[in-house]
Amino acid sequence: MPKEYYEILGVSEDASQEEIKKAYRKKAKKYHPDANSDSADEEKFKKINKAYDVLSDEEKRRKYDRFGEAGVNANAGHGGGFGSFQEIFEQIFGGGMGGRRSERGQHMKIPVTVTLEEAYQGVEKTFKVERQKQCDACNGSGGEGGSTTACSTCGGRGRVQAVQRTPFGRARTVQECGDCGGRGDVPDTPCTDCNGEGVKKMEETLTIDIPAGAETGKRLRIRGKGHEARNGDAGHLYVFVDVEDHPELERREDDLFTTVRVGVGDAALGCAVEVPTADGFVSVTIPAGTQPGQVLRVEGKGMPTGSRFGSSYGDLYVKVDVHIPSNLSDEQESVFEELKEQPENEKSFFETVKDIVT
Ligand SMILES: [Zn+2]
Ligand SMILES: [Zn+2]
Repeated sequence: MPKEYYEILGVSEDASQEEIKKAYRKKAKKYHPDANSDSADEEKFKKINKAYDVLSDEEKRRKYDRFGEAGVNANAGHGGGFGSFQEIFEQIFGGGMGGRRSERGQHMKIPVTVTLEEAYQGVEKTFKVERQKQCDACNGSGGEGGSTTACSTCGGRGRVQAVQRTPFGRARTVQECGDCGGRGDVPDTPCTDCNGEGVKKMEETLTIDIPAGAETGKRLRIRGKGHEARNGDAGHLYVFVDVEDHPELERREDDLFTTVRVGVGDAALGCAVEVPTADGFVSVTIPAGTQPGQVLRVEGKGMPTGSRFGSSYGDLYVKVDVHIPSNLSDEQESVFEELKEQPENEKSFFETVKDIVT
């Protein structure tokens, strides 16, 4: 039977309700999307709430223990239920968040694509983003000229009392006032600049440094460059790096892999070939007697390892593909025939091959 919900909350399967509640409080607080911290994670927060919804209800928990997720999802549509996860959260943490809502700016996520060469050097990327910013005409109040009056619905508190069904039964809770959006005051006349929103979307040009060695999936955090709330609090901008595939180089962590093709004469006698790296070409010596498929390691010609181990580099691995000629000319054919008959003349054979076969 799946134990996922227990794992999500980090409790044992025989945990008491008290332990479950305690674990939930800790986790929910950590991952709450409005926490405005590094750990804020909406997806995780939802999972935590789902797990808590089931495990905090002994009947649901029994079904889950017996039948897994199917046992509790079958019940999902029984109607009524309880309020949104946000409401449960506020109900449990209630007082701590009371009073006027302190608005937080939302985080913003953007992808940025770089070439392998750019990832090698590190690169400065400039792009336009549309950010929500505090309206400067009304200082975020939403009122023309910044003029507002205390909300009559909530008396300026930003919160109203309500009765609500929760996993613990009916409870009197404090909710955000719908009339003023929790701010406690309302505009006298809506600000014409932002239509009374207190914020407006604005295009902004940002320049971001992608560090040398950046890999696909790397997340960069630019503090305070996310969306702004009405009060001017700004979320972060998260930049997700995507490194483009390279036509000739394959990257595995800090190492690069490529294939070169050499003639049969070059493989037998040895030669030097120009091999691509993420930083131009490098000359690689193919030693005499190199076998088809043999892999040569060129130290330090991979990707920068970034700050992880100081300034060092991965390696470049070169696989040697030996070209065996087909459709031989008469001249070429006679040379190969000669080797077949006199294998002891190998060296002079390959000298000749090098000249006439590529
Ligand atoms: Zn305004
Ligand atoms: Zn109000």
